[in-house]
Amino acid sequence: MISASNSLKNETLVMKFGGTSVGTAEAMHQVVSIVETEKQRWKNVVVVTSALSGVTDTLLKMASQVTTGQTTAPEESAAELARRHSEIADILIHDKAVRQIVKTEINDIISQVINLCKAIAVLGEATPRVMDTIASSGERMCVRLLAAAIQSAGIPAQAVEATRLIRTDDHYTDAHPDFAKTQQMTRAVLTPILEKGTVPVITGFIAATENGNITTLGRGGSDYSAALIGASLPADDVWIYTDVNGVMTADPRLVPDAATVPICSYREIAELAYYGAKVLHPKTIRPVIEAGIGLRVCNTFNPEHPGTRLVSELKAQDGVIKAITTIRGLQLITLEGRGMLGVPGVAARTFETVAKLGTSVPLITQASSEQSICFAVPTESTNSVITMLTSAFAREIESRDIDRVWATEEVGIVTVVGEGMRSTPGVSGRVFTALGNNKVNVIAIAQGSSEVSISLVVNAVHIQQALRVLHQLIQPAESGL
Ligand code: ADP
Ligand code: ASP
Ligand code: MG
Repeated sequence: MISASNSLKNETLVMKFGGTSVGTAEAMHQVVSIVETEKQRWKNVVVVTSALSGVTDTLLKMASQVTTGQTTAPEESAAELARRHSEIADILIHDKAVRQIVKTEINDIISQVINLCKAIAVLGEATPRVMDTIASSGERMCVRLLAAAIQSAGIPAQAVEATRLIRTDDHYTDAHPDFAKTQQMTRAVLTPILEKGTVPVITGFIAATENGNITTLGRGGSDYSAALIGASLPADDVWIYTDVNGVMTADPRLVPDAATVPICSYREIAELAYYGAKVLHPKTIRPVIEAGIGLRVCNTFNPEHPGTRLVSELKAQDGVIKAITTIRGLQLITLEGRGMLGVPGVAARTFETVAKLGTSVPLITQASSEQSICFAVPTESTNSVITMLTSAFAREIESRDIDRVWATEEVGIVTVVGEGMRSTPGVSGRVFTALGNNKVNVIAIAQGSSEVSISLVVNAVHIQQALRVLHQLIQPAESGL
């Protein structure tokens, strides 16, 4: 746990910018002006940034292309990466010498990626450790560019690689931080920079092991980086800048009339993030709660909009149904048999088996009769999960205690989230009536243990319809809009 006592209290803001916020010269210029504005309001401003939009995907694609024999493809992507970064440098870095240094550093990083791709081609495979080193390059390029752009606008800024701040285990591609060590390292590196009045511009997403090997915190992990750094200092506030007006009642790409949720509890955002709302990485919340610091989600392209404030407690009447999320691309796996009642530890053995495959299980339901266990897995894992379970329970299947292990067609999870549902009777009635009236069949249900959410499994073809129908149940007055 990160402890929250430090002399910087009440004066420090951590701002995290996502990929689209730094994806073009225009967007990055907007980021620079946000930093300029906030630097006048706060004593210490810390910037955490993602890679330029699409860059992490490109880097991972470059590595996977060479394993499939496309050995010239990475060179083309590398040229495109160099072009994109160089174009932004030309527009935003005014000093010719600085611009040249930044371009050289970025080209060196790209050359390292090409060299790693060549090594992968020789070996014929990419280890998770190499993948992390490659994936980290996006943020490493971006901080150099953004720090120089901020500096060009007259604000002292310094690029910092989070390998010096965040210590993790060696679980490459999804590393777990050592909170105590991270706090110590973050304070040691950032305090002198902040004392000079300089804005540290820090790589999101990446960290390092004790031996200095680069790790990453999982896709979308820059939000988590900002939370870890914010909690370590500690900052007063962490603001997550993205490309929409905060946390919305649904993904605005799927529901065009989605509206901002002005206030959202930690419990609500945790459920939303867990059940597919990409707007905030689910791990962001814990360090922020533990350090007792403020969290806000706001829009780089509409910085005057208040966005969403995350709060620890909400009055129940603050909203019944607040937001709806969806996860696609799943199948339900069912283990069933009348003899299951007598077989010890079926659930434990089932999930132990699934865990061995490293498969995530977003939803579980068990009938009270204990005659079946049913859980969702990503479609790409279905076959391996069935094969593993069939072999793990071979004896029970032979003795007919378990009749079969099977998977549904593709399904999705639609989750209805709202703190006020707990104290408001009949919410689930409204949900099921609305779905029934619109001929959406609910295959399975799970209610979050905090009673802040209800998750419904529906056929893939019904997801959009379910989302639309349930979104209409959100009353502006209820969500405080
Ligand atoms: P960033 O690169 O800034 O981290 P992300 O793409 O990770 O941005 O997350 C922002 C996106 O999350 C939005 O563009 C939006 O399409 C999507 N999103 C999904 N659900 C929600 C929601 N409930 N509220 C806001 N945005 C959402
Ligand atoms: N650049 C990383 C990714 O694309 C991390 C992030 O954007 O948060 O996953
Ligand atoms: Mg994100």
